[in-house]
Amino acid sequence: MEVNLESLAVGEYKELERNVFTTTLENVKAWARSNSLWPMTFGLACCAIEMMGTGAAHYDLDRFGTIFRASPRQSDVMIVAGTVTKKMAPLLRRLYDQMPEPKWVIAMGSCATAGGPYVKSYSVVKGVDQIVPVDVYIPGCPPNPAALIYGIHKLQEKIRYEAKTGKRVTDT
Ligand code: SF4
Repeated sequence: MEVNLESLAVGEYKELERNVFTTTLENVKAWARSNSLWPMTFGLACCAIEMMGTGAAHYDLDRFGTIFRASPRQSDVMIVAGTVTKKMAPLLRRLYDQMPEPKWVIAMGSCATAGGPYVKSYSVVKGVDQIVPVDVYIPGCPPNPAALIYGIHKLQEKIRYEAKTGKRVTDT
C-alpha cells in the first residue's frame, strides 16, 4: 500500500517518524549479534579471576546479553584472560578453530596482549595475536571488571560499525 506523505497532518507525520524506521538486514544482524555475545568459559591465569568477577552478580555481564558458554561450538567470543604459554598455544588455537563463524577475540590484560611481566620468559607467547586474530585489546595487569565491560562495549561498537560501513576495523 502506498502512503501519500503530503496528505498527512503534521501530528500524523511526527507519529510516523517516531514509529517507523528503515534499516538493512546487515544492521539488524549486527545489532542482534552485538547484543548476544557468548564468550567461551575459558581462563588461563590471574586475569581470569577478574573475568569471573565480571560475570558474577555484582557486575552481572548477563545484562548486556553476554553469557558464558561451556563449549566452543556455542561461543562466538574468546576472551583470552591470562598468560599464554607456548605449551597452551596449540590448544588455544584448536578451541578457536572449533568456534563457529562469525567469531571475535578479546585479549584481556598485558599477558595476553604482549606477554606481560613474562615477556622475556622462554615459555610465554609474546601476544596472543601470534596465534589468533585479536579484535580488542584491554590493557592492565589485571584489567578490572569495568575495563572488561568497556572492552566488550568496544567490540559491540566494532561489530555494528563494520555492518554499517562494510569496512573492516583492525586492531582496536
Ligand atoms: S596480565 Fe597480570 S594479572 Fe593478567 S594474567 Fe598476566 S600477570 Fe596475571
